[in-house]
Amino acid sequence: MTAAPRTGPEAPLLEATGITKRYGRFTALDAVDLRIEAGRTVSIVGESGSGKSTLARIVVGLERADAGTVRFRGEPVRGRRARKAFRRSVGMVFQDPYESIDPRMTIGEAVAEPLRAHGLHRADRAARVRELLDAVGMEGVPPEAWPHRFSGGQRQRVCIARALATDPELVICDEPTSALDVSVQAQILNLLLDLQRRRGLSYLFITHDLDVVRRISDEVDVLLRGRVVERGTAEEITDSPGHAYTQRLLGAVPADSPRRRRIGKRLDVDC
Ligand code: ADP
Ligand code: MG
Repeated sequence: MTAAPRTGPEAPLLEATGITKRYGRFTALDAVDLRIEAGRTVSIVGESGSGKSTLARIVVGLERADAGTVRFRGEPVRGRRARKAFRRSVGMVFQDPYESIDPRMTIGEAVAEPLRAHGLHRADRAARVRELLDAVGMEGVPPEAWPHRFSGGQRQRVCIARALATDPELVICDEPTSALDVSVQAQILNLLLDLQRRRGLSYLFITHDLDVVRRISDEVDVLLRGRVVERGTAEEITDSPGHAYTQRLLGAVPADSPRRRRIGKRLDVDC
């Protein structure tokens, strides 16, 4: 059963109800509910193939659900105009910063691309691009630079700047650190946390990494074969997972033990 969605000023920033997606006879998502309050971070964890990226793509509007509703500030995201307005309010950061930047664009063009896509022909575009690059820790890097010069971490910074171009309230991060060197992962995570504080962002955060779940999330939804099997605060889920699958996913050993960290890392690779 799904609770009636709240409307009005007390509505959550984003609320998805009954999201169902089938690929042929295979059900990738089965009546998934999701709720993100303004300024909060909801993490989605689950093994590979559990439907995390599909859910992210549906929420952001890159893919259509077969059933279910996405509401933003209580209003259903339905119809061309609502969808377009919603797309401006949501940014997305993908896992692989090598695949998600067009090598034929300078980093400045990449960051400005969403502005152009949304018809926001700002007179101050150059200044805006500069501000966005500075905000992601790329002070002093010229917007004329080509992406091939940059490491994975720097590229992911460019992707984050691009995700922020339209001043979104919600940013969806689909495993944004798992393709990066371990030493760089913490820097990118700190950047995301810092941006959240400064800009009041909400995050939908997809990750396998237990340390990441602990550090970044307010709430956690556990996805298993397209269904949410457990939901709770980050502490509840990581300290006392109720579902056997969650225990397996997180490793049922005390927090911060080296073994638990190893399990977390292994899940990162295996999942
Ligand atoms: P996750 O991100 O949790 O690893 P995905 O959302 O990518 O999982 O995929 C969930 C399931 O849906 C997988 O079994 C995957 O093979 C399937 N799937 C995803 N996208 C498609 C597609 N375009 N066509 C067919 N099956 C798909
Ligand atoms: Mg995925």
